[in-house]
Amino acid sequence: MSSLSVTQLSARRESVVAALTSPDLASIVDLVVWVEVEANGRSDAGPVAMAASHVGRVRLHGNGAHQVLEGLDPIASEDPMAFLPYDLECASPDPLTSRENAYPYAASRILSLFADPTRSPDVAVVHTPGHFFPEQGGHVGEHGSLDVIQSRAPLLLSGKGVAARGIVDAHARLVDVGATLAALAGVPDSGLRDAAGEVLDGGVLTAYLSADRLAEPKVVGILWDGAHCSDLLHLAECGELPGVARLIESGVALRGGAVAQFPSITLTNHTSILTGLGPGRHGVMGNVFYDRATGERVKPNDASTWHRSAEWLRPAVRTVFEMVNDIVLQRNSPRTASLNEAIDRGADYSTMAIVRDSGSSSGAAGLNDQLPDAQTSVHVHDKAHLDDSYFSWGTQVDDLGLEQMRQLWASPESAPTLTWWANVVSDAGHHAGGPRSDIARDSLRDSDSRLVSFLEHLDRLGITDQVTFLLTADHGFEGSDPAVTGSWRPALESLGIPFRDEGPGFIYLLPDS
Ligand SMILES: [Zn+2]
Repeated sequence: MSSLSVTQLSARRESVVAALTSPDLASIVDLVVWVEVEANGRSDAGPVAMAASHVGRVRLHGNGAHQVLEGLDPIASEDPMAFLPYDLECASPDPLTSRENAYPYAASRILSLFADPTRSPDVAVVHTPGHFFPEQGGHVGEHGSLDVIQSRAPLLLSGKGVAARGIVDAHARLVDVGATLAALAGVPDSGLRDAAGEVLDGGVLTAYLSADRLAEPKVVGILWDGAHCSDLLHLAECGELPGVARLIESGVALRGGAVAQFPSITLTNHTSILTGLGPGRHGVMGNVFYDRATGERVKPNDASTWHRSAEWLRPAVRTVFEMVNDIVLQRNSPRTASLNEAIDRGADYSTMAIVRDSGSSSGAAGLNDQLPDAQTSVHVHDKAHLDDSYFSWGTQVDDLGLEQMRQLWASPESAPTLTWWANVVSDAGHHAGGPRSDIARDSLRDSDSRLVSFLEHLDRLGITDQVTFLLTADHGFEGSDPAVTGSWRPALESLGIPFRDEGPGFIYLLPDS
C-alpha cells in the first residue's frame, strides 16, 4: 500500500474540511481541527494548529496569536474560566455555537493530538455540545470536545503538604497532575522526566503546596471518572458531598478545575494524568484510534483490553508509579498501588495485574462474576439507577475498589507511598442523564459515600492528617439535545476519498487501494 504524497494529503484534507464545515452540518460539527506545516521559510517553522467551522477559519500560532484566514474566528475565546461562576453555565443556551464557547489551550492541545508519527488522525472533528448520536455510541451526556465544559475536570488538593485555602478562582491542567502527585510522594524535580530524559508536558502545582511534608509521605490520588467540576463543587458547598467538603476544608479546590487534554476522552486523559504527557508523547490518542504502522484499530478503553495498556504506551513514557518506585526502597508492602486503572505500568499493586495474572482471555470482562452484588451496596442512594447496566457495573467495581483501599491501608505501615484510586460510577451517571440530572448527582453522592467510608477508616487508624489527597477526574460532561442528530459520514463518503472515521471524529485519510 503506497502512502499519500504531501500534495495529495493536503488536497484531500482540504476537501474533507470543506465538506465538514458546510452550513448543512453546523448543528453537529462544532469545529474541524488539524495541523499544517508553516511554509514561511523561517528556520523555526513547524506544525501549526488550524481550526475551522462554518463561520470561518483560524491559524493558531504558538505565541497565542489567532490569525483569521477566512470569515470569523471559530475559536473566539480560550478562557479556561469561561461559564463561571456556575450560574452562567447553568443559564447558558444549549447548544452553544463555537463563537459563544471557549476552548482553553487550543493550540497546544491540538498540536499534541497531531504529534504522534503513526496514530494521529489527519483531521479531528469536534462534535457540537448538543450532538446526540446514540446510533454511533453517543449518550445523553457526552464529552470529548475541545470546549471548556467537557474539558473541565475537578481538581482538589488536601491534607498534609497542602496549603488550606478553600475554593479559589483558578485552574490547572490535567497534565500537571502526574508531576504534582510524584512531587508530593517525594520525587525530586530531576525525577520528573520521561525515559528519554525530556521534561514532562505538565508541571508541579507548587502554588498550592506547603513546606509541611513528611519524610515518608503517603499520597492518595482519587479519580472520579467524568465528575463534573462545577456541579461537584456546587453539591459540596450545599452540604451534599460531605467527603469532598471535608477535603476542601483542609485543602484547596480550583473553581476552574483542571483542563483535560484533547480529545477530552477517558483513556487519553487517564494516560496524561499518570504520565505527565500529552497524547502526542504518550500515544493513547483516544478510546479508539488507528495505527498506520500496524494497520491495527486500537481500542484501549475496553474491559477486554485495559490490562494491556502498557502495549500502547510510547517507548519514552514513564508512569508516575515508575517515577515514585525509583525513589522508594523496596519493602514487603506495595510502594505504589493502582486501583481500577488501566494505566498501571510499574505499580507494585494493581487491579489490572490481578486481571493479567488471572489469565482471563477476555481481560477484566472475564472477572465480572467475582464482583460484589450491586443490589446489596450500602453506597447507592437510589437503587433504581441499577437498572442502567453501566451504573450497576460501576457500583460493583467501585465497591470492590473501596474494599481494596481498606486492605492496602490496613495499617499505617502497609500503606503505599502513592495510591491511585480510580472510580467509575460517576462516568455512568453523567453519560446516562447528563450533568445535573438525578442519576449524575446520585453518582457523585455514591462516590462521596465511598470517600467518607475511606476517610473514616483513616480516622480509626488516627492518620488522616498525615495523608495528602488529590481528587480529580479525566474530563467534564455536557448534556446533548435529543433533537440534534445526524452524521457527517454521508458528506465524507460523497467525496469518493478512502478514509476511516474512528470515534467518530478521528478522520484518517487512506491511500487508494
Ligand atoms: Zn472518563
